Amino acid sequence: MSVLVLAELDNHKLSPATARIVAAAAKLGPVDVLVSTSAAAEAASAIAGVTKILVSDIADLADGFANALFDLSARYDYLVAGASTLGKDVMPRLAAKLDIQPVTDIVAVDGPTRFTRPIYAGNALETVTDNQPKHVLTFRASAFQPAGQGGPAPVENIENTVVSAVKLIAQHRSESDIPDLSTAQIVVGGGVSVGSAEGFALIEKLGKTLGAAVGATRAAVDAGYAPNDWQVGQTGKIIAPDLYIAVGISGALQHLAGIQGAKKIIAINSDPEAPIVKIADVVLIGDLFEILPRLTAELEKL
Ligand code: FAD
Repeated sequence: MSVLVLAELDNHKLSPATARIVAAAAKLGPVDVLVSTSAAAEAASAIAGVTKILVSDIADLADGFANALFDLSARYDYLVAGASTLGKDVMPRLAAKLDIQPVTDIVAVDGPTRFTRPIYAGNALETVTDNQPKHVLTFRASAFQPAGQGGPAPVENIENTVVSAVKLIAQHRSESDIPDLSTAQIVVGGGVSVGSAEGFALIEKLGKTLGAAVGATRAAVDAGYAPNDWQVGQTGKIIAPDLYIAVGISGALQHLAGIQGAKKIIAINSDPEAPIVKIADVVLIGDLFEILPRLTAELEKL
């Protein structure tokens, strides 16, 4: 049983999510990794459990990745990606080309054809069997521990013969020194009660002090207080940090769906009856505008 994993990249470099996806995929068989940059190839070749790295100068587009995976698909039993923005864009295209039903958002591998995945916004888990001749899968990276250091695995350059109808014209990336939300170990999240984009500066300051990523509820994003890519939850990012600090967040089910993997939760909320208070490990009841500056100032002294 052979597996091909599509590497997750972050600004052309290998994302830490790839080591988690490789660890999950290694339960199915020997793992090859497909990457599109030589920098990512070198990093991926040092992940334990990787047999071979395939490097293709695929245009950085879902169409290009799907075509390249399709070209290589005859060699593999499993074609795997993260349940990320990239995976959600690429794998349905690939599945359609192969005429296969993909199994998405897998959080546990129970056997060669048996997988567990969340449904109803994470409120239930279902176990599915996939008896198709080939398997197109996406894994929720945060549900798996990363593979360790290994290798170096051999690197093979493959010619990109795919003619795509789509061309990449430009990419725009917001520069930031804040850690990536999906893989950060600490996340500070702000709710709509933060009140304004300026108010989110308090959240960002605490985040910077802790070396944390910054997240937001959909209500805060919809109000224009935080950018869309900070949204955590059912319709945002799924995170699994060691520590999540929820500031002025009620704990609606759709938000909780994104933070179920958090190992510890600290809630700062003025309402002792807020749902997040019931599930938090540590609770600070009070006004966030009083607590945050004091907490940040104390942490800065450390
Ligand atoms: P609120 O629920 O209004 O909570 C504000 C909290 O702040 C309250 O607990 C209040 O006690 C506290 N507070 C107020 N003032 C202060 C203060 N001064 N100091 C301290 N605490 C204070 N939401 C998401 O987050 N992510 C999603 O992906 C998502 N997807 C959704 C998908 C669907 C289909 C739907 C219908 C909804 C979705 N939502 C999502 C929205 C979700 O239902 C909630 O509306 C949202 O999470 C609430 O955000 P909030 O906690 O910021 O606001």
